[in-house]
Amino acid sequence: MKKRILIANRSEIAIRIIRSAHRLGMLAVVLQSDKEPDALYLKYADEIIPAKDAQNEKPIFLNAERIVEIALEHQIDMIHPGYGFMSENPDFAALCEENGINFIGPSPELIRNMGIKTIAKKMAIEAGLPLVPGSDGAVKDAAKAAEYAASIGYPVLLKASAGGGGRGMRIVEKAETMERLFKSAYDEAISAFGNGDLFIEKYLTNPKHLEFQILGDKHGNVIHLGERECSLQRKHQKLMEEAPSASLSPEMRKEMGDMAVKFAKQIGYFSAGTIEYILDESGTFYFMEMNTRIQVEHPVTEMITGVDLVDWQIKVAMGEKLSLTQDDIKMNGWAIEIRVNTEDPQNRFSPQTGFIEKIHFPTSKDIRIETGVTHGSIVTPYFDSMIAKIIVHGKDRPDVIAKTLKALNEFSLIGLKTTAPFCRAVLQHEEFVTAKYTTRWVDTYFTPEMLESEDEELVGALAATIIYATDYLQIASEIPTSRNESLNLWVLNKRIN
Ligand code: ADP
Repeated sequence: MKKRILIANRSEIAIRIIRSAHRLGMLAVVLQSDKEPDALYLKYADEIIPAKDAQNEKPIFLNAERIVEIALEHQIDMIHPGYGFMSENPDFAALCEENGINFIGPSPELIRNMGIKTIAKKMAIEAGLPLVPGSDGAVKDAAKAAEYAASIGYPVLLKASAGGGGRGMRIVEKAETMERLFKSAYDEAISAFGNGDLFIEKYLTNPKHLEFQILGDKHGNVIHLGERECSLQRKHQKLMEEAPSASLSPEMRKEMGDMAVKFAKQIGYFSAGTIEYILDESGTFYFMEMNTRIQVEHPVTEMITGVDLVDWQIKVAMGEKLSLTQDDIKMNGWAIEIRVNTEDPQNRFSPQTGFIEKIHFPTSKDIRIETGVTHGSIVTPYFDSMIAKIIVHGKDRPDVIAKTLKALNEFSLIGLKTTAPFCRAVLQHEEFVTAKYTTRWVDTYFTPEMLESEDEELVGALAATIIYATDYLQIASEIPTSRNESLNLWVLNKRIN
């Protein structure tokens, strides 16, 4: 009997996991949300379970009890949570365990400890990792926060202990704004995580974000697969990634990688995980946090190491021993990942929803495409705006930059604006080309005018969009009426623009 794996996720990562499940001889079962009943990933699955979540505010992927109920009804052996949604929810992992379903990820206890940043930092200190100067745990209120900030000096960063995705985070430049920013960080943390605990870190003004990929098994073996640089961010969210990082010497890579492995071993970590570091302008590195799941940007690591991380997540969950040692991990060339988000970079990255009339991806042996959409897909407001990833491999950094630019020139999407033109501008910017870019790049260098020449192409695309409008309406009439309204409105908006 083939093992049945339920993917509690959607879009490109669901398809990515299905690929691994099939490679390992398993059946892939997916959940169909009423919020996107025609999604592309459904076509790849062996079995589709309608989740009937139309009446619920939350999509099925956030409903832990219901997912486990469905898994039990459908004789599921294992659940892969992907990223986001339930992937770092210790209660969900525990619920799976209690019901005899193999959760593909680390233990609930590990997820819980690493999910609370203040606990993770305490455990990191015990393993000898360097930390950014900061408060010892959460601070009680704005007054205490101001007192502490005065002792380490402004600017400081308020961070939510239970935070993720850059939420519940505020930079405080001076004492006068502490009270207001403390309240807004607290409110955001409460609404996003149900936990308003905030702690303080010294704010590094121009840092780089580097992270090490960890892989461990249930037998105490842990290795790392090198680093990724994810400094290209907006509002603390990653937009493009590369591996390796040009900012590390082989000695630093070894030091940071060894420390990451030591930490993971000390906490008894298994499955795929990521140790995030921040690097200041002097080249000093500090531990930031650990993510206990597969990352969006994992393909850049896979491309340069040849190791399939999702295959290993599944094998480790089944108790298999890592057959790879640290010496087996060799870095080959360089990889860049472009996140294609349906956001308008010329309009403060405002989310775009609507209909994808046509989408064309570049193809070559050096290009890997991970997408959750195709011609005719509808991007709804219910989910994240990342619709695809374009991952490119080159023999070295200049080679991969040139190939990624070429790939982006060949990519086209008619219907919605995306972050692809933005990424094209980054790839040509001197700070990126010389690898000096930091997490401040967008705030320091990006202006919508940078994309003006790109816009001419968009105008061309828009003309094509209007020509296709009749087709849209015809297709729209075939789509269930509840969505017609927004679709027509969207076509209308496009015409007015
Ligand atoms: P989240 O879990 O919400 O993603 P992280 O702790 O991973 O939060 O931080 C997200 C981003 O915020 C980092 O990649 C980095 O750009 C920025 N950041 C975090 N800590 C600091 C700091 N002390 N100084 C400057 N920037 C920071």
